[in-house]
Amino acid sequence: MQDIKSLTLEELKREMERIGEKPFRAKQLYQWMHQKLARNFDEMTNLPLSLRAKCAENYDYTALKQVRMQESAIDGTRKYLFELGDGKLVESVFMRYQHGNSVCISSQVGCRMGCAFCASTIGGLERCLAPSEMLDQIYAITLLTGEKVSNVVVMGCGEPLDNYDNLLRFLALLNDENGLHISQRSVTVSTCGLVPEMRRLAEEGLSITLALSLHASTDETRKKLMPIANKYTIAELIETCAYYFEKTGRRITFEYALAGGVNDGNEDAERLSALLKGLNCHVNLIPVNPVKERNFTQPEKSYIAAFKNKLEKNGINVTIRREMGRDIDGACGQLRRRQKALQ
Ligand code: SAH
Repeated sequence: MQDIKSLTLEELKREMERIGEKPFRAKQLYQWMHQKLARNFDEMTNLPLSLRAKCAENYDYTALKQVRMQESAIDGTRKYLFELGDGKLVESVFMRYQHGNSVCISSQVGCRMGCAFCASTIGGLERCLAPSEMLDQIYAITLLTGEKVSNVVVMGCGEPLDNYDNLLRFLALLNDENGLHISQRSVTVSTCGLVPEMRRLAEEGLSITLALSLHASTDETRKKLMPIANKYTIAELIETCAYYFEKTGRRITFEYALAGGVNDGNEDAERLSALLKGLNCHVNLIPVNPVKERNFTQPEKSYIAAFKNKLEKNGINVTIRREMGRDIDGACGQLRRRQKALQ
């Protein structure tokens, strides 16, 4: 059956005609799904019972079930574990910032990118998420917290550009004025660096922020951390980022997870500065989040500060990512792993 929550308003209009309903019903349905965040057809109380029944017969209606929620005692960050229609699990995170609430969503169940420090990839890729299932994470959190979500980051489990078409459809639905109408400027998509998809994304005419997980200043080190580095060099990535900026005018964010003794040296900071010189960008330093199954440790505080200072001295815009929810398995995929271990 068709997944009704993944349809655009235009597609829904055509569907209404197909099942013998008036096209104006499409907008009502769309708003129930994407604005009033109905969890099923029965909640759509101003629609005729006959229409609701017909919809239930013809379409799948995705909904998430909360399995667990952990709230950080340190900063109030909440990490949710949701069950999808087929029983698979995804994680999403709710964070409160001064500039508004932010939700970090997953784009796949598991991941096939194989990054050495990341928990999401340990069991490989199980499947991609549908556009509706990406939206559902935001909708469920909005309902559960009763708070408005103003920023969305696609930085949970999975590689969003490895689920390209669904990601694009998700972005369009999220931005639709008959839905949550979240501005593209408030959306960040993070990638491990799939060059062809990054180029394609640059040409879509979107104004989202692209974040690139760089994590190393040489190809040699990057290959040890990220298998994708065997396919694309850092030079190619930087060139692609420059192209993305040229096409979209959006400043690139570079993510750099600092791991003690791996990529946190003075020479790394120098090389990184040289790589990014002249590029309109921002560097986000993330002290690596230690994952039980992985052997990485955070550098000492003084190393992190020295790394940041070096970049700043070289004129690079840099922040140290506030570690949200460290006490609640904040790193990607950790909560899901723990749940699976219990099952
Ligand atoms: N696949 C995408 C998005 C998901 S990961 C990507 O690679 O960008 C979101 C970010 O968290 C990435 O920068 C990823 O490299 C980083 N990350 C994953 N595990 C981490 C860990 N244990 N500590 C710090 N950062 C981690």
